[in-house]
Amino acid sequence: MNNQNNSNETEVIECSQCLKEIPASEAKSVEGIDYIAHFCGLECYDKWIKEKQKQEKE
Ligand SMILES: [Zn+2]
Repeated sequence: MNNQNNSNETEVIECSQCLKEIPASEAKSVEGIDYIAHFCGLECYDKWIKEKQKQEKE
């Protein structure tokens, strides 16, 4: 176990889909024209991108 107290160096972000907190280094990020989204995994990425495509079709 690595119990170093260096929390300043571990950036934590929120999954844009399930709002879970995840280390930035493990997040999947998507950059669009006017947004950046982060995801804890492919499942959330998948759900989110489908919602977004639905919105953009209108
Ligand atoms: Zn998630």
